[in-house]
Amino acid sequence: MEQLKQRILEEATVLSSDVLKLDALLNQQVDPQLMMKMGQEFANLYREEGITRVVTVESSGIPVAFATALELGVPLVFARRKKTLLADPDALVERVPSFTKGIVTDIMLSKQFVTENDRILFIDDIIANGDAARGLVKIIQRSGATLVGVGIVIEKCFQNGANTIREQGIRLDSLVKIASLEGGNITFG
Ligand code: 5GP
Repeated sequence: MEQLKQRILEEATVLSSDVLKLDALLNQQVDPQLMMKMGQEFANLYREEGITRVVTVESSGIPVAFATALELGVPLVFARRKKTLLADPDALVERVPSFTKGIVTDIMLSKQFVTENDRILFIDDIIANGDAARGLVKIIQRSGATLVGVGIVIEKCFQNGANTIREQGIRLDSLVKIASLEGGNITFG
């Protein structure tokens, strides 16, 4: 998505050879019009797939997942991140390490909102090592719902998260691929 590449070049900062600061675009501020365009891109890719729910993980994936759900005319469900969990028989839970925070969190989705009748499109903001995404994929699979595909705004392809999901035979589409952040430069893939 050319417009997104341009905005990344203008508004993102390279923090290290593997981390891109995206506060101005995804993590603190969002441009609603850009979010709607990204939602349209994902919706166009999956419009014929009979999606019944869009699922994401809080928090930075929510705006683009919302835009996608609005375009597809289906509900948005967001998994919660919790540090501690009281046993809840209605919850599907996976423990995942967090790439940026350096901690382990539980992601939780109530069985009420993903059922075996659902065809799910999972949307997320960034994929690095893929721990968060694999956790949510497991939750969706355990729910009995059909995971139709995964839509990612920014795929850092020098880390292997996206490929570990594709290797499971799951469709994964990203709007922008970043091949390298070496030398403080953003190189698209
Ligand atoms: P993963 O589980 O794929 O290693 O990391 C996924 C999450 O970590 C993303 O949803 C995102 O919140 C955060 N993350 C990973 N890499 C980056 C990065 O380079 N920049 C920013 N801003 N967030 C990142």
